[in-house]
Amino acid sequence: SREIQLAARPQGAPKDSDFTLVERQLGQPGEGEVLVRNLFLTVDPYMRGRMNDVKSYTPPFALNETMTGGAVGEVITSNADGLKAGDLVLHDAGWRTHALIPAKTARKVDLLPSISPSAYLGILGMPGLTAYAGLLEVAAFKEGDVVFVSGAAGAVGSVVGQIARLKGAGRVIGSAGSADKVAHLTEKLGFDTAFNYKDGPVSTLLKEAAPDGIDVYFDNVGGDHLEAALFAFNPFGRAALCGAISQYNATEPASAPRNLALAIGKQLTLKGFIVSSYSHLSAQFAKEVGGWIASGELHYDETVVEGIENMPGAFMGLLDGKNTGKMVVKL
Ligand code: NDP
Repeated sequence: SREIQLAARPQGAPKDSDFTLVERQLGQPGEGEVLVRNLFLTVDPYMRGRMNDVKSYTPPFALNETMTGGAVGEVITSNADGLKAGDLVLHDAGWRTHALIPAKTARKVDLLPSISPSAYLGILGMPGLTAYAGLLEVAAFKEGDVVFVSGAAGAVGSVVGQIARLKGAGRVIGSAGSADKVAHLTEKLGFDTAFNYKDGPVSTLLKEAAPDGIDVYFDNVGGDHLEAALFAFNPFGRAALCGAISQYNATEPASAPRNLALAIGKQLTLKGFIVSSYSHLSAQFAKEVGGWIASGELHYDETVVEGIENMPGAFMGLLDGKNTGKMVVKL
């Protein structure tokens, strides 16, 4: 197997020398194990946190060990009941071309017609469920709400905006980091309006985009975006605090939002969440989102990088906005 290991803990933005590519010989599967050839690997923003030596809701990656993360692959050899050669499985031994894993840590997935297996790392997987649960349950979205989502051209954000539209939002507003992404949001994904947060102060741009205020904010970014949303909120607004990617590479504590006290006077609900607590929505999510994909009402993008040797670059590109939709690595 060719595998990516963490060579050093990054200071600020990760760089090439923080990763090494190693080659390892895998044996045959022992009792209860399967050998999997990975087809697609995921890079996700939360992995940046795991590269630091701090306790979080996921433990840190160990130095000089192969990193882990979502992967879909094909079983080559099985020594376990319930899985056979040729089965497609979703598992957590990513960042490598092949994985020798206990069968009980792999979930068999059925490939839907005309859908790439990579969808289980994005639209039909963890990021898709994050969007669905975060908007509908955490932010308690209701018809007519004006919804603002940051990181709107990414894996989670692009699905949040589209579900809001499909569920009858009053208006859907997105922010992203390039003119191309902004055009994509309004022209392809059906956002009512969108802005490039690099064009000026976020609070000014949001005020122009949402002159009558917002009811729901789905926060992927934190910092200035959250500060702007607090200003823009109507009374009884609700925020799902999903991520704070503007701060993941920071070496100093962030200052914004400086206006958190507005949450009091406006009687807001700002609720943080971790997608793994929302598995009770998985079946409903798969049915509803699967239906929208099949009917063509929901669009999803993937940015595909090829080759295990290019995986660190894919991860660094993700943190730098090189992706539209889900960033995945194809082997
Ligand atoms: P994305 O596909 O959205 O990729 C990350 C994007 O972040 C980049 O494309 C880039 O787009 C944007 N970005 C990078 N730096 C900044 C910055 N300084 N300010 C604003 N945007 C920036 O990733 P995901 O959809 O997988 O994740 C989105 C967020 O959701 C992350 O914060 C992640 O940690 C969080 N998350 C939380 C979960 C939970 O359970 N709470 C589960 C899954 C994800 P651009 O070009 O627009 O800058």
